[in-house]
Amino acid sequence: MILFKKEHQLQNYLTTLKLDKKSIGFVPTMGALHAGHLSLIQKAKEENDCVVCSIFVNPTQFNNATDLEKYPRTAAKDIELLTSVGTDVLLMPAVEEVYPKGLDTTLELDFGKLAMVMEGQFRPGHFDGMAQVVNRLLDMVKPHSLYMGQKDFQQITIVRSMLAQLESEIKLVMCPIMREENGLAMSSRNVRLTPENRILAVKISQTLSAAKKLVNDKTPNEVKEWAMQELSIPEFRPEYFEIVDGITLQSIDDFSETNFAVACTAVWAGDIRLIDNMVLKS
Ligand code: AMP
Repeated sequence: MILFKKEHQLQNYLTTLKLDKKSIGFVPTMGALHAGHLSLIQKAKEENDCVVCSIFVNPTQFNNATDLEKYPRTAAKDIELLTSVGTDVLLMPAVEEVYPKGLDTTLELDFGKLAMVMEGQFRPGHFDGMAQVVNRLLDMVKPHSLYMGQKDFQQITIVRSMLAQLESEIKLVMCPIMREENGLAMSSRNVRLTPENRILAVKISQTLSAAKKLVNDKTPNEVKEWAMQELSIPEFRPEYFEIVDGITLQSIDDFSETNFAVACTAVWAGDIRLIDNMVLKS
């Protein structure tokens, strides 16, 4: 694996590959890697000649300074993991490399209602920062394909909208959610859970799975109310549990309204915010 910190060095390397007609798959991450991230690398490896992974904890997408400060940083272990799965290139730029003085990286895109609900409602500015960094990283790597996880369902939907608005030819590939054996969605933030809350957090995926079984008997609102109750244990504070159309991300009133219904939730477990989702109907 070759490690680059500078954009021009990365581009020199990748330009040669592209001239040789090699395909480039790109997996952006914020590090503190786990098997979920590695599944994206593996998928990218299956479909490309060269896989580039980036590790960059993007300050512009954090709406909470403590969350940014406490975001786990495990560079040495990440490098080991990426090497073990055969990653070709790792990009680890400094903040000044991604946002150099004098370069306007702001994006004038409108995500409309996609960005107003769920994460957009509870994390103001998050998606503007996320889109800004993904666009900037895509500009640095210029890949043929981009691999992102269903784990961040609203994020990938907004990136899809961004690529469409930019008339980009980059192929976006959505990879399934990797879970712990007990069902907890893998997340870099899981290491910050207390041992007790890490066990209790299985309740989130259990509630999503149970919600899926209620689709034929209850309305989306009934399922939502039931799920919010289920998740309201003393140690947790559910922020939302929404049942949305998987394309528009807007709440549905009846399951017959869409062929693609997704339940999305965000739950505070102590001071750690966890998100998860499940396709209820597709
Ligand atoms: P992050 O480092 O959290 O920004 O995540 C980088 C990428 O990995 C994003 O596309 C995420 O959706 C994806 N990802 C995070 N957790 C998982 C998981 N448990 N399973 C699959 N993909 C994931």
